[in-house]
This record gives sequence, structure tokens and C-alpha cells, in this order.
Amino acid sequence: MSNEIFYKSASELEKLLDSGEITSVDLTKAVIERTKSIDGKLNAFISFDERKTLEEALASDERRKGGRKLSPLDGIPIGIKDVISENGQPLTCGSKILKGYVSPYDATVIERLRSAGSVLWGRTNMDEFAMGSSNENSFYGNVCNPWDITRVPGGSSGGSAAAVAAGEAILALGSDTGGSVRQPAAFCGVIGLKPSYGAVSRYGLVAFASSLDQIGQFGRSIEDVATLFQIVAGHDVKDSSSYPFEKKNYVNELKNYKAVKTIGIPKEFLGTGLDPEIRQAIESAINFYENSGHRVREVQLSMTEYALAAYYVIATAEASANLARFDGIRYGYRAENVKNAIDIYSKTRGEGFGMEVKRRIILGTFALSSENFDSYYLRAQKVRTLIRNDFMAAFDNVDALIAPVTPTTAFKIGDKTSDPLQMYLSDIYTLPVNLAGLCGVSVPCGFSKIGLPMGIQIIGKAFHEHEILALGYEFEQSHDFKDAHPKI
Ligand code: GLN
Repeated sequence: MSNEIFYKSASELEKLLDSGEITSVDLTKAVIERTKSIDGKLNAFISFDERKTLEEALASDERRKGGRKLSPLDGIPIGIKDVISENGQPLTCGSKILKGYVSPYDATVIERLRSAGSVLWGRTNMDEFAMGSSNENSFYGNVCNPWDITRVPGGSSGGSAAAVAAGEAILALGSDTGGSVRQPAAFCGVIGLKPSYGAVSRYGLVAFASSLDQIGQFGRSIEDVATLFQIVAGHDVKDSSSYPFEKKNYVNELKNYKAVKTIGIPKEFLGTGLDPEIRQAIESAINFYENSGHRVREVQLSMTEYALAAYYVIATAEASANLARFDGIRYGYRAENVKNAIDIYSKTRGEGFGMEVKRRIILGTFALSSENFDSYYLRAQKVRTLIRNDFMAAFDNVDALIAPVTPTTAFKIGDKTSDPLQMYLSDIYTLPVNLAGLCGVSVPCGFSKIGLPMGIQIIGKAFHEHEILALGYEFEQSHDFKDAHPKI
């Protein structure tokens, strides 16, 4: 186990802060120094504001000195994906089109972290507008995987995953529309939770595909992720898609949840295309649960075969509508030497958006056009319902599902950039969960022969985060993967 302060879990750090052995300023400085010394290699951050961050740490120390602590994460530095608004900080979404834009307000998750006393650390790198699976689509440069810097960290929240894996943050927030929290978590050997649709307010999250987007949580231990989720989750009147579900005490549930569960294994997720080393790791995780007394049974999710196609119609259609607001008038970048309004729009969008974003806008506009709407968009929505029904039928008989997160381990930088379909296939096991509105968590389950992290995905019913976190905790506690750190 590492003794470096930046590799400690938030729950360990909370004890050290409470006992006065360390201060939040010490901790925050250690995280800042760590970032400055290695981020030249990783590029996990787009920007950070050292002075502001240290002021927040100091405020936390003063609070504690006065005998007051706002939450278990009081004084803990948290990385924020650069798609979530923090008042006064730049917000780029990894795009040139938002260059120079500063958020005028706080997202609800940021407001909740402030009320919890957390230290809002840097803005993490990401694929432009969260579109991608490798973090190679960022205008601010690609992110490297801390376990092997010639490889991708996954995407689109690659900066958050890499930062947490490398000790550049204790925890981080990301967003997951089709896998963007779980897939980079698996590639970087950390935990990544995609909450149920409606569990975390998206007010202040820049929209990609509004019927799929969720803000997710990264950490190096399940307990830390449960704590972060506890703080940011819950109904918010500012987001009409947020749902007034009954929140649990997620950390208590981890430790007290001992019931025998029935775990479903979707056989479609273990078919061709899955790396044999990952298959083996998943199988041994399944054996672990069986040996721990849970029941395991095969389930069928036959409609998931069509999930990728449906996702790329629905996500691009919604993106084409959401991204219409970037017109060179309201936010960030504006093209120069323009003649009239149409010229401003087209030049700004032409120069400001990257290739992948343009591809999605074009695809989505096509799917929504009147002559194609019925045969693409409407049909994709029907397929979505069938996929959801498949999951609902499976959940009639099982409490949770176990599947791979990704078909492969982290691939080499540049390997898939010229083949969008290959890139899209990276999310084949994660995006059905978004289509169905369920929750899923990626939990480290070992390393490949060449030392790359692998993850299992535990999928739960909507608003049953406590169950998947508890199952993940059980696995984590019986293995030592969380104590392994990359050498950078
Ligand atoms: N990789 C998927 C995509 O590019 C998912 C992205 C995400 O979850 N934000 O659409």
C-alpha cells in the first residue's frame, strides 16, 4: 500500500483531517504538486486555479479548527470534468468553441459539494462535448493512460479517470451518456459509477444527449464513491428530469448489506469480440460471488444487439439539437472577418467544432429531418423500449447483473482514430444501461498480462445504487486491486 498522501482514500483522509494529523491545505498542496510534477505526461487537466483551490482548503481547515465539519468530504480535493459549470471558472467542454467562456453560475452538483465543504480542484480533460471513448477528441490535447502512457485512458471522462488513478485528485466527477464514466474507469483501474437516470441533477451540466446524460462519480474505493454519490444525488427542482427517489445511506448500506442476492449473467455480453483475458476475469468474479453464497443465473438480453445502432441515432439526434446553441453569439469563440449573421454561425461552428462533433451533428440532423424521422429516430426509440423491456424482464428474476465494462483493455493512442465504428464499439456493454435508464458501476477486477487494468460492470435496477455499490464493495474487500497504483 502506498503511503503517499495523494493515494489515500477520502475515508482515510477524513480521519487524518479530523485528528489534526494533516490539514486540508497540506493535502491540497500535495495534490497540486503531484499534478504539476506528472501532468505534463498525462494531460488530465485543462485548467486549474491554484489560488482559489487553496482558499477553499484553508476555509475547510478553519472550519475544522472551530469544531465544525460539513461532511465526510470536507477538505477533500475533487476534480471536475470540464463540462460541469463552476461559477467563475472556465468551462470548455474540451472544445475550441467554448474557449474563453467562464461559467456565470454553479451546477447543482457543485453547489452541493460546496455545502459539503469539498475543495473544488481542477477542470479535467475530456473528449469534445463528451463525444468519444478515448479522449483523443479534445481540443486541448489527448490524455494518456497512467498505466501506460502510450495508451488511451478511455473517454469521454478520460481526464477524471486518469487524475484519480494517478493521485492528481482524490475523487472526481464525470458524465456518462453511453459509458463515459464506466469505460475510462475500467481503462484506468478506478471505480466509476453511472447513476440511474434522474438520480443526480444535471442542472449546470452542458447537455450532450438529454435523455441519456448522467453525472457520475470516480474514486479509488467504493466507499469513497458511495460518499460522493450520497452528497451529490437527490431531487432538484432546477432539473425537470431529476426524480424524487428515496435516498439511502449508501455508506451504511455497504457495510450492512449481507443478503444473498441473485446475480444475472447476460450471455450476450460474453460473446464474440470480448478479449479472452477480460472474459476470464469476469468469470472469476462470477465464481467469487457464487462462492460467497450468492445465486448466479444466466439471463437473456437479446435486444441489446441493437443497442449500439439505436444509441447512435438517439444520441446524435439529441446532440444536434443541444449543440445548436453554440452559434458564436452567446458563448465563447467567435470567428473573425464575418459578413453577416449566417456567416457568424457557419464560420464559428465550422472553425469551433472538431471532426467528431461535426460528424454527430450531421448524423443527428439527418435522423431528425422530416423525411427520415420515422425510419430512424422513431424506430430507434422503439428499439430503446424493447431494450428496456429486456432489462425489466431480467430484473423480475435477478437483483443485479454482472457484465464486462469494455470489450478490450486500453488501446494504443491513434489505434482507432480513423475508424469511428471501432471506436463506437468500445461502449457496446455500457450504453444499453443508459438506454434503459439503469445504474451501473465499474469495479477493478485485475490486470491483463501486460499490466493493464480490467473492470467488471455491475448493473442494477433504477435507483438501486445501494445494491450495486454493496456488491462491488464485497468484491473489493476480498481483493487488493485498489492498493495497486501506476508508476508514472
Ligand atoms: N463513447 C460514447 C459516445 O461517444 C459515450 C460518450 C459518453 O458517455 N459521454 O457517444
